[in-house]
Amino acid sequence: MKIKKLEIVGFKSFLDKASIQFPEGISAIVGPNGCGKSNVIDALRWVMGEQSVKQLRGKSMEDIIFAGANGRPPLNMAEVTLTMTNDNGHAPEAFRDYSEISVTRRLYRSGESAYLINKQPCRLKDIYNLFMGSGVGTRTFAIIQQGNIGAIVDAGPDERRLFIEEAAGVTRYKFRKTEALRKVKATEQNLLRINDIVAEVN
Ligand code: ATP
Repeated sequence: MKIKKLEIVGFKSFLDKASIQFPEGISAIVGPNGCGKSNVIDALRWVMGEQSVKQLRGKSMEDIIFAGANGRPPLNMAEVTLTMTNDNGHAPEAFRDYSEISVTRRLYRSGESAYLINKQPCRLKDIYNLFMGSGVGTRTFAIIQQGNIGAIVDAGPDERRLFIEEAAGVTRYKFRKTEALRKVKATEQNLLRINDIVAEVN
């Protein structure tokens, strides 16, 4: 999957709708200090499901909604939509037939929020699943921030292995294996209980 377009409205300094295209090759965002370059990266992280307010450079999640500036009043909603091309088949099975996949996240000042994939409401888990092992995602090296390179160099073998597994697309399967093992364990417990009941009835 490749990032194609990012649409931002009401997110941090983006009061009016902004549409940023990412054509093939390298894209660079340049501008004077404080113009909102890092806010674009925050928007990218946020739409990919980031839950850490610290990672988004705020104190509470509400801080990502336009708070008012230059005489313009605060907004009540932030919305970011990320459109990706799906030409390398790295998307999960359910999305393999789509040439483009869009992910939307919305947050209202009331705290109400929504996640959508291809305009259909979904769970945060579906968003994580979409990105897991795709090479794109909040914890991957699709986004390299200051200090990240140092973190890789300083990482111990176990941590470095996790970086490589994510880049290789193994994480998705490891996650599914953990989920499957959890279900097996729950089923074993249920079976034990049923056997106890059967023994009691007999
Ligand atoms: P630098 O080059 O100094 O790192 P930058 O271009 O990366 O700067 P950002 O950190 O992306 O700039 O943007 C900072 C601007 O965003 C500040 O002017 C700040 O007031 C504004 N900003 C952040 N959150 C909000 C918000 N919720 N509402 C309105 N403006 C916001």
